[in-house]
Amino acid sequence: MLRECIKRKAHEVVYKTGTRDPIKICEAKHIPVYYDDLGNQIMAYHAIIKRIPAIVLSTRNSEFENTYSCGHELGHHFCRHTGNTECLNRSNLRFSTMGNEAEANEFMVDLMLDGVNPRDYETKRQLLQACGIPTWAERYADWERMTNGVVY
Ligand SMILES: [Zn+2]
Repeated sequence: MLRECIKRKAHEVVYKTGTRDPIKICEAKHIPVYYDDLGNQIMAYHAIIKRIPAIVLSTRNSEFENTYSCGHELGHHFCRHTGNTECLNRSNLRFSTMGNEAEANEFMVDLMLDGVNPRDYETKRQLLQACGIPTWAERYADWERMTNGVVY
């Protein structure tokens, strides 16, 4: 899926649900979110059970982690990744440029930054923090486009 399509999809979802909060988007879209103890490593996964999509989040996550993990799993949902996608794993939180995991991360960032004006924040770091984006995902943000040439 092209980056442009991912961005458009994320924007459409925010527009239709009226929120950038991944958990609230699940409510609005009737995507069940379950909480389970997934152990030390796994933070979240996306499952399709009898053709009904669901997102499972670890009870060991912080609220911050749950929010972006949910955004990542929504990426798998809306990019229609039907095969087995990797679980979001603590040891696997990094920037990658290809494949389903990269697309899910791109969607997460596009969704959580949709409509945000970078000029409202003094630094990139502040913006990311305010929008709940973890620092490892910083490189997915399309700064140039968001700021229309304003350089930090
Ligand atoms: Zn994933």
